[in-house]
This record gives sequence, structure tokens and C-alpha cells, in this order.
Amino acid sequence: YAAKGRRRGVLVYDEARDGMGRRRLELIAELRQGIGEGQLRLHFQPQLELRTGRVVAVEALVRWQHPTRGLLGPGDFIDLAESAGLMGLLTTWVVEDALRQCRQWRDEGLHLRVAVNVSPSAVVDRAFPQQVERLLRHHGIPAERLVLEVTEELLMNNPQRTVDALSVVRGLGVGVSIDDYGTGYSSLAYLKDLPVTELKLDRSFIASMGSSARSSAIVRSTLNLAHALGLHLVAEGVEDEATLLALAGLGCDLAQGYHLSRPLVADDVPDAVRRIATALARA
Ligand code: C2E
Ligand code: MG
Ligand code: MG
Ligand code: MG
Repeated sequence: YAAKGRRRGVLVYDEARDGMGRRRLELIAELRQGIGEGQLRLHFQPQLELRTGRVVAVEALVRWQHPTRGLLGPGDFIDLAESAGLMGLLTTWVVEDALRQCRQWRDEGLHLRVAVNVSPSAVVDRAFPQQVERLLRHHGIPAERLVLEVTEELLMNNPQRTVDALSVVRGLGVGVSIDDYGTGYSSLAYLKDLPVTELKLDRSFIASMGSSARSSAIVRSTLNLAHALGLHLVAEGVEDEATLLALAGLGCDLAQGYHLSRPLVADDVPDAVRRIATALARA
């Protein structure tokens, strides 16, 4: 009886694993094809400069318009792309599309910086810095208008190659931001050596600023650290007015979050930029 149960258990387990494996391979093939066929989309979330009350930047966030499963978020396919070796392809598409969009806004008189998330494996690819330079030149975007958001994970796992690659793009004038700052190892060593321009404090600290004296102390001290190093601090995940006002009062440089705007399709960005400035002028 026990043996039978076990055998059945093993069977069920293998079936599930096999099914998942097959599904995964299917998805990988679909993603590879989807990137080639233009199924990726960028949404853009405004970043408000608190000192001036103006939207000066947007963060590009990738989505996959899957033919049958609908619009998928990065949580549904970034890990897949990473493990399938598709990150270089995806990142190239994202940087290119972000710069193309930035160009279009400029042609309409809207000058925005655009921040792009780049994964560790894409940054340490030897072709990456040159590719960024080529795309900037192709679209006629000043390097200062592009920011690369990297995670602390990158800085821990591949220190020398990362420093080298980021130094090259930084040398072009491209900004470098540490995304989700404070959730990784937060080693101060890399802040000493790395050519970063911005810290983007993780939303877990921002969300609890109002209710937790500790979070609030972390926000204040990170702001001091950033400013002492000549870096900007961006607060992500700003979800209410009180948090926005508190950040402005502390002297935080940029704020981003649902309270200001959700990530938007490109066509909706110009209106949102105006709406946010107007709402602030009234407040
Ligand atoms: P992230 O770079 O930290 O991006 C911020 C995420 O928080 C976005 O989720 C955004 O929609 C969400 N968010 C913005 N404001 C708020 C808020 O007020 N409250 C809350 N709760 N969430 C907010 P999304 O678009 O699902 O992206 C998730 C992650 O996927 C990103 O985190 C980033 O690490 C990664 N990602 C997105 N686009 C790309 C890409 O093009 N390439 C790579 N490699 N990774 C990407
Ligand atoms: Mg980001
Ligand atoms: Mg982040
Ligand atoms: Mg995050």
C-alpha cells in the first residue's frame, strides 16, 4: 500500500515537473519570437523633481503583450529571459525603444530624462557600452538624458567587470542609479568606487516612513549619505500626499509612485506631466 502510494507520488511529481518544463520551454520560444516580432511594450512612470515641482524624468518599465495570455508584467518573464539567455536581446530592445520614445517626446518639445532597468548579465556583456553609445548617437539623445538603473546584486556578483562597464557608460555622460537601494547588501565599498549618480531608495522604506520612526531615520540618513557623495536620491513607491510632502520637506530630489502616476503608455505621458505640475501648483 505504501509502495503504491509512493509510486503514485513519484508519478504525479514527475508529471508536474515534466509539464512545467515543457511549458517553460514553450514560453522561452514564445518570448524569443515575441521580442523579434515586436510584442514587448514599454510603459513609463513619471519622476517628479521636488525642488521645482516638475516632472523631469520617466522610468521605462517593460511589458510583454502576449498573443494569448494578455499583457504580462516583468515579474512574469524577466527571470525566464535571464535564465534562457535572452537578457541581452531584451535589454537592447528596451534601451532602443526608450531612446526612440525619448526622441519623439523631444521632437514634440517635451524634454525628459529616461531611466532604463538593466540586468546584471546585460551590463557585463562586453558589447554593452558600445551598444549604448551607438543607440544614443543613432537617436540623437544627449547621454545625460539616459539613466541606467542597476541593482546591488550586480555590484556584489561581478565587481570588476561591472565597475569597468559602468565606468565606460558613465564616461559617456550616462547616469547610473542603484535601484531598490537598501534591500541588497548595501555595501558602502561599492559606493566608494563606483561611478554612480543616483540612489533609488527602495519603496519598503518610503511606504513606512510615516508610521515607522526607524524607516524615517533610514530615509533621512540615506539622503544625507547621497548628498554627501554628490548623488541624487530618488524615492520610489510614493503612494500618498503625506509621504510626498515629507520627502519634499527632507530635501529628497526626486519622487516616483502611484500617488503621482501609474506607469503609462507613451501617448499618455505628456498629459500626465502637465497634470502633475498643475496639481502641485495648486497644492
Ligand atoms: P523597479 O525597477 O524597482 O520598478 C518599480 C516597480 O514598482 C514597477 O513594477 C512599478 O510599476 C512599481 N511601482 C511604481 N510605483 C509604485 C507604488 O507607488 N507602489 C507600488 N506598490 N509599486 C509601484 P513593474 O513594472 O512590475 O516592474 C517590476 C520590476 O521589474 C522592476 O522593479 C524592475 O526590477 C524589473 N523591470 C522592469 N522593466 C524592466 C526592464 O526593462 N529590464 C529589466 N531587466 N528589468 C525590468
Ligand atoms: Mg527600476
Ligand atoms: Mg526600484
Ligand atoms: Mg523595486
